[in-house]
Amino acid sequence: MDRSVDYQGQILTYALQYKKVKHITLRVYDDLRIAVSAPRRLKKEEIDRYVQQKGAWILQSQHKINQRKIEKAQYGLRNRYTAGGYIYFLGDKIPLILHSGISTQLIDGQLFINATDDSQKIAEKAAQFYQSQSIIIFRKLNDALYPHLEMLGIKKATIAARRMSASWGRCHVQKGHIVLNTQLIQAPKECIVSVLLHEYVHFLHPNHGKEFKRLLYELMPEYDQWTERLNLLISLS
Ligand SMILES: [Zn+2]
Repeated sequence: MDRSVDYQGQILTYALQYKKVKHITLRVYDDLRIAVSAPRRLKKEEIDRYVQQKGAWILQSQHKINQRKIEKAQYGLRNRYTAGGYIYFLGDKIPLILHSGISTQLIDGQLFINATDDSQKIAEKAAQFYQSQSIIIFRKLNDALYPHLEMLGIKKATIAARRMSASWGRCHVQKGHIVLNTQLIQAPKECIVSVLLHEYVHFLHPNHGKEFKRLLYELMPEYDQWTERLNLLISLS
């Protein structure tokens, strides 16, 4: 059910859900919605008061989300599938050359595509290029990263590339298998490595607890910097 409270003259509307939980939790979602789950023993008025107390934090979170949207609009990578257009590949802006009679290939920092000025066709060819390159590059990055992990007793993972809409990477610990999102191929290599490393650390620590973070930062001290950059550059879709 939706409830509203007044925080310093601002109306904060939140979705309340009673659940079998011990503590009250409050979330602010990407679309700025506020959601609260609360144990059944709490009265609605008590929950209202709680939300009111968190007013400053809620407004600050919503502000941050909005800032981030502005930044993303400014810095986010966007391909241009036209004659004279470009695509992003490993963080570089690659000019597109439309050319008949040549298969899609990267030559001297330019991507040759066999297509006329038809955005849909160009986008299709670019997607094929991303798909074929991502598995090759992900495996190379894995080959380069693994020697740094071997002494931890981690087995070398098999790598797959797949387009995913909700995560950059996934791991199957039992199978020693890591799946990386093909959308990563637009980002700088360090961004891709940060995702790969994150999944590898799960081989030793299933959760994102203290031990997980300690090892992750030890292996890649600038981890946060690269993941932040990644999330700014590409919005998962
Ligand atoms: Zn994780």
